[in-house]
Amino acid sequence: MKLWGIVLPFVLVFNSVAAGNLKPRKPKNIILMIGDGTGLVHLYAAYTAKGGQLNIFDYAKAVGISITASLNDYITDSAAGATAFSTGQKTNNGIIGMGSDSTTLKTIAESAYENGMSTGVVVTCELPHATPASFYAHQPSRKKYKAIAADITQNPAATIMVGGGLPYFDTNALKKAGYCVSIGINAMQQNTGARQICFIDTLKEPLPAPSRGPALETGSMHAISKLSKNKKGFFLMIEGSQIDWGAHNNDSAHTIAEAIDFDNAAGEVLAWAKKDKNTLVVITADHECGGLTLHGYDAKNKRPVMHFSSGHHTAEPVPVYAFGPGAELFSGVYQNTAIYFKMMKLLNLQTDK
Ligand SMILES: [Zn+2]
Repeated sequence: MKLWGIVLPFVLVFNSVAAGNLKPRKPKNIILMIGDGTGLVHLYAAYTAKGGQLNIFDYAKAVGISITASLNDYITDSAAGATAFSTGQKTNNGIIGMGSDSTTLKTIAESAYENGMSTGVVVTCELPHATPASFYAHQPSRKKYKAIAADITQNPAATIMVGGGLPYFDTNALKKAGYCVSIGINAMQQNTGARQICFIDTLKEPLPAPSRGPALETGSMHAISKLSKNKKGFFLMIEGSQIDWGAHNNDSAHTIAEAIDFDNAAGEVLAWAKKDKNTLVVITADHECGGLTLHGYDAKNKRPVMHFSSGHHTAEPVPVYAFGPGAELFSGVYQNTAIYFKMMKLLNLQTDK
């Protein structure tokens, strides 16, 4: 009898949390990590190649499934996929930060900025590429790189941007907008500007992993050290951009190298978040790419035998891994747009709908 007196209160507390009766603890900061084109199988390939370990799997506290279809297609592209995360709206493939009728949609980065938070992106593609663009630009076509670069330059919402694509930008306009411009990973670490744009190199597209060096890892931690100075919190989007490119080319070695690069960055970010205790990390993909299957283990080369059934994106739903305060909201099966609404709710940011 006495035992029940001790155990029962614990059972009741556990049940009410499980039933969602208690409000989730809210994070001060959110880091959204997107593996472009990265299904569960891409990450399991990296897990296998790493000898049976992946930081993302080790840290995940809640796991969900995101349905990725765009407004006009069963299979999304990265523009509509990222716009779903950044605005909570399904739009047509190819559109950046706008509805299908070309209405400008406010992004989570812009809402966070208006509420006094700091924001940024760290990517391994060119900054005007679809995924980073969808957080700071509003264009009816993802192909309008110059217009997207101009939108990014004019947008006051970003405190720090790390990525490629220097040739698309007018550096004088960037400086006028208050950006301190640096080129290279070492120069990035020396960049102490109030607003920073840190180009990984001078190329249009950064080199593939591992040739480009630890740009994603170093860039992510540099951005966090800058953004975490804001007492009101921050929103940061980090993208492993080239996992998708490896899969489009059905290039197993490139796909695995990029997935490992992404997981290395995730390991640093998650370790920081664990220490910080006030940061939610959400790791997902905009879509799967390549229709990847693993149909064996190559013991000689210590990697999985990989088969791509497509050179394009597929409709396969993708996993969502969450760690930190509010992580439990990310369990379940939902549309990609739900990720935006969950993040906005946890940051106490007002949505238009
Ligand atoms: Zn793609």
